[in-house]
Amino acid sequence: MFMRIAVLFGLSFLFVAGSIAVDERFGVAQAQAPARTTPPAATTPAPLPPEKPAIAETKDKKESLPAKLLFAAKQLPSLGKAMAIGYYPRGCLSGGVPLPVTGPTWQVMRVSRNRNWGHPSLIRFLEKFSPLAAKATGWKGILIGDLSQPRGGPLPYGHTSHQSGLDVDIWFMPMPARVLSNDERDKLAFVNLVAEDWKQLDPKTWTPQHVNFIKTAAEQPEVERVLVNAAIKQELCRVEKKPAWLAKVRPWYGHHDHIHVRLKCPADSPICRAQPPVGGEDGCDKKALEFWFSDRVLNPPKPTTPAKPPRQITMADLPPACKDVLAAPARQVNQARGN
Ligand SMILES: [Zn+2]
Repeated sequence: MFMRIAVLFGLSFLFVAGSIAVDERFGVAQAQAPARTTPPAATTPAPLPPEKPAIAETKDKKESLPAKLLFAAKQLPSLGKAMAIGYYPRGCLSGGVPLPVTGPTWQVMRVSRNRNWGHPSLIRFLEKFSPLAAKATGWKGILIGDLSQPRGGPLPYGHTSHQSGLDVDIWFMPMPARVLSNDERDKLAFVNLVAEDWKQLDPKTWTPQHVNFIKTAAEQPEVERVLVNAAIKQELCRVEKKPAWLAKVRPWYGHHDHIHVRLKCPADSPICRAQPPVGGEDGCDKKALEFWFSDRVLNPPKPTTPAKPPRQITMADLPPACKDVLAAPARQVNQARGN
């Protein structure tokens, strides 16, 4: 009985709160109107959202939670040896290290996401690549997007891979000569290099420097793949005469405003799963590219029924070592977060 009264009281409170909010939206005139006896449908309060699952639950419950929630909750890397674990879209990162958000020839974008963590080989790669890219393009430096979360793992939004500390997105925009504020790094918009029909490049934004930028990334021996939009790959095939590095540059959805660089499994990471290496094919034959410009990709038919959301990755889907990474104590790292 008490519960029932409490529930009724709670509901009427919500109803009153809802009415006030609605009246305030309409200003004083609405507030002075005679009190209604029955509310219009719009003022009926929405049901309360379900409570967020508490992360410190029993072991069984933790197993069934989406792993992205567990990994996103970790603000610091795990204590322990640096290791890339599992596969790029099914793994995690032990002993992750941060890329400083501002370097001589780079700036990290979207700093507030806390995704500037990687395996030490990825940090070393970026420190080496950024001055090389600057030299090859004449840019002041590069703008770096997401690497991984402090302990890697699935991400709550934005990427399927980037889980094992070996993937990084790098923007197609030159770094400005000045240090960007954190607010600018969060808000600055990308430049799209591809035309509206998604079949060719946009001559207003595409430059020959972009060829040098992509080439410099793909030429590095530790790089496994460089993903770009198909229109960009098509242009590289047109202007470059079958160089070996072109095989590593692969078309993928999106990637019209950034390249995605993926490193090979490092020698110190025995349970890192390698991606099959690209063969000798440069991927420039008509058939390989045609698919990307087909209606299937560019104008897919709208599904008649709403698509079922994909199944969430749980801890059981990840290598068992990822449980240890999640449970490990944190390594305290003082990051300079820009300005
Ligand atoms: Zn990416």
